[in-house]
Amino acid sequence: MQSAFIKDTDQKVYAWHAELEGERFVCTGCAGTMFLKNGMVRVAHFAHAPESHCAFARYESELEVTYKVSIYEALVERYGAKGRIDVEHTGIAGCRPAVFINGRKHRIAIELLVDATDVREIINKSEIYFALNVGVIWVLPFDSERLNGDRLKMKEHEKLLCFMNNKRLLFWHLRRKSFSVAEFGAAYGESTEFYDKNQGDMVYYEGRKLRSTFNITNLINNIYPEDLTRWVSSKRFEMETYKYPLPKSILWKYQPPPKNRHLKRLR
Ligand SMILES: [Zn+2]
Repeated sequence: MQSAFIKDTDQKVYAWHAELEGERFVCTGCAGTMFLKNGMVRVAHFAHAPESHCAFARYESELEVTYKVSIYEALVERYGAKGRIDVEHTGIAGCRPAVFINGRKHRIAIELLVDATDVREIINKSEIYFALNVGVIWVLPFDSERLNGDRLKMKEHEKLLCFMNNKRLLFWHLRRKSFSVAEFGAAYGESTEFYDKNQGDMVYYEGRKLRSTFNITNLINNIYPEDLTRWVSSKRFEMETYKYPLPKSILWKYQPPPKNRHLKRLR
């Protein structure tokens, strides 16, 4: 974990801040004692005592921590509202968003999906947030190697998010310190043509629509939360082509400016 309370206070501190030596810490979830690990092997983090059974304790990769801290610091720098932006928010039972924006009008959880993710977890959390009127930004790590080509072979959770998100995915770009949005279209397998002896003619087979691979049709960089719009889906939606339902959700989505905006301005 990256956050803890200083013992006997409600002051939340972050492991990546170095000025914490000599303090004693407790977990923001279970109030158990935590230890600041600042070793050479792993990035600074707080850890429970080995005998702890905290429900919030889970393994985090170095990459996940890097993304979490990057998002938090970029948003604090942009909006300056330190008290309104929180890391590892504990106010929502069953969820612990990487970053939480407690805005004047809206509450937004930024859920970071760096390591393997169970699709059902996305569905469950979406509906927990929905019930509490909290919006969500699901964000994936920007991996230039995967996104450089014309196509992306999606993992299961990426597919679900893509369907929930109107054929788009939202990534956090570490170098740009902002979101990047990729837009997708259907991809087709190779079409083939061969000579069929029985028919005595060339036979042509059109390539099949691929189930997990999609064409990357557009990549938009430098997106910030203010470029996203709030979308409410108040019903579960069963998809014919997909084995999971799209959950009830409040999503902050990137929607390109309407095409006729330019025309309106000219009138
Ligand atoms: Zn704990």
